[in-house]
Amino acid sequence: MSIGAAAELLRESANTVALTGAGFSTASGIPDFRSEGSGLWKIHDPMEVASLSAFRTQPQRFFEWIHPLTVQIFAAQPNPAHQALAQLESLGILQLIITQNIDGLHQRAGSRNVIEVHGSLERLTCVTCQSVYPAGDFLPTYLEQHSMPRCPECGGILKPNVILFEEQLPFEAWQRAQDAARNCEVMIIAGSSLEVMPVASLPMQALDAGAKLILINQNAIYLDPRADVILNMDVAEALPQITSVLQLKSYVTMPTTSVM
Ligand SMILES: [Zn+2]
Repeated sequence: MSIGAAAELLRESANTVALTGAGFSTASGIPDFRSEGSGLWKIHDPMEVASLSAFRTQPQRFFEWIHPLTVQIFAAQPNPAHQALAQLESLGILQLIITQNIDGLHQRAGSRNVIEVHGSLERLTCVTCQSVYPAGDFLPTYLEQHSMPRCPECGGILKPNVILFEEQLPFEAWQRAQDAARNCEVMIIAGSSLEVMPVASLPMQALDAGAKLILINQNAIYLDPRADVILNMDVAEALPQITSVLQLKSYVTMPTTSVM
């Protein structure tokens, strides 16, 4: 019934935005590096290795720490939840994805309108000369030899384009995300417990502007009382079900529109 209610809200909305977090990619085998459940937290406190100041003083430690996560991300495949959002976009039902994830799996599933508010592991920037490189050029050496990627131009250290602790969100991406939140009619929040600021403020901005919320999370979160539909399910189960309801409806109405 809630699946139907979610599908109905989406069908009526002219502007829908999805906000996705770490729970979206766990079905692809990628741990949430900020949560204690991931093995990464046991080795080091992420604040001690994944902050901007730590990167500047001890980049080698950062690259050692993020190595297992990098291996998992580049071996991962989009899961049915990623595919469902890509289908919703191609059906014209979903206008934009705002993601906290750095794994690039939305794009690999075929989604085109994606704002990566925490950046992406797909590119690297030289800390000395600011040149930007695709990660793929440096990945095999880093994954095999654990060596820090260096700028071919100046020899500076290449920093992945991910937002570290203590670092501001990319200005332009953050502005676009806020505009989208304030202008959407429906926001789907999927696989995010919304504990990380400032991204956690986006649903409140959407609500203040009159948007409706669909929450898809395994567990209850603090926004539940404000939601129009709550699905306490795995995103990889819920989103494909919603998508098939909507595909069925668009298929049923297709003959009418094609006559016109
Ligand atoms: Zn350089």
